[in-house]
Amino acid sequence: MSVCENYKEVEQRVEAACMRAGRSRKDVTLIAVSKTKPVSMIEELLPLGVTEFGENKVQELTAKAEILPSTLNWHMIGHLQRNKVKYIVDKACLIHSVDSLRLAEEISKEAEKKQVIANILIEVNVAEEESKFGVSTTEVIPLLEKISLLPNIAVHGLMTIAPYVENPEENRWIFHKLKNLSIDIKEKNFDNVTMDVLSMGMTGDYEVAIEEGATHVRVGTGIFGERNYTI
Ligand SMILES: *Cc1c(COP(=O)(O)O)cnc(C)c1O
Repeated sequence: MSVCENYKEVEQRVEAACMRAGRSRKDVTLIAVSKTKPVSMIEELLPLGVTEFGENKVQELTAKAEILPSTLNWHMIGHLQRNKVKYIVDKACLIHSVDSLRLAEEISKEAEKKQVIANILIEVNVAEEESKFGVSTTEVIPLLEKISLLPNIAVHGLMTIAPYVENPEENRWIFHKLKNLSIDIKEKNFDNVTMDVLSMGMTGDYEVAIEEGATHVRVGTGIFGERNYTI
C-alpha cells in the first residue's frame, strides 16, 4: 500500500473512532510521525492536505522543516536535551515531551530570546515504565505549579507513550487516567496552563485513545510503514 492509501485508511479509522465516542472529527488531530522516513514520503502526503508531522530528533525536524513548505506544522515528540532547545523552540508548533523544570526553564529562556511563546505538553509516564521518559502522575501538579510561573511558556496539556501491547484494550486504563489527570489540573486554574490537548495513541492503540479523549494521535508505522533503524 502507498503512503497515501495508508493515510486514508488511518483517517477512516480515526473518523470511525470519533463516531463511536460521539466526538467531532475536528476535535482530533492526526499527526503523521515521519521520523526516519525520507522527505519524499512526506511530500507524497501533501496533496491530501496533510499539515501535521511528528519528529523525535531535533536535527531531523529542523532539516525537514527547512526543505519542506513553511505551511507545515512540526511536532517535537521525542526526548529533548536542553542544549538542543535553541534549535527548535521557534520551529516546533508544539513540544510534546517536557518532563522536567530544568527543561521547561531552558525552553522559556530560549523562547524569550526569540520573542515567541513556546507551546508545550507535559510528558507523563502513566504506566510507570522504567525505560520511559516522563514524570509520574503524582509529580505533574507540583511540576506545573512551577512551570506556570515561567514567562514564555504555554502549557496546553499532557502527553503519554503507552507500552507496546498486542491488544490495545490493555492500554485503555492509561488513556483514561491521563484524561482524568487533565481534568484535575484544569480545575486548578494555573496561569499559562490550559488542558485542551491530550496527545496519546500510536499505531497500535490510537482508536482506543480517541475513545478515551485523545485530541492528538501520533501515527508513524500505520502511515509510513515499518521503520528501519539500521540504515
Ligand atoms: C515513533 C513514535 C510514535 C509513532 O509510533 P508508531 O507506533 O510507529 O505509530 C508516536 N509517538 C512517539 C513519541 C514516537 O516516538
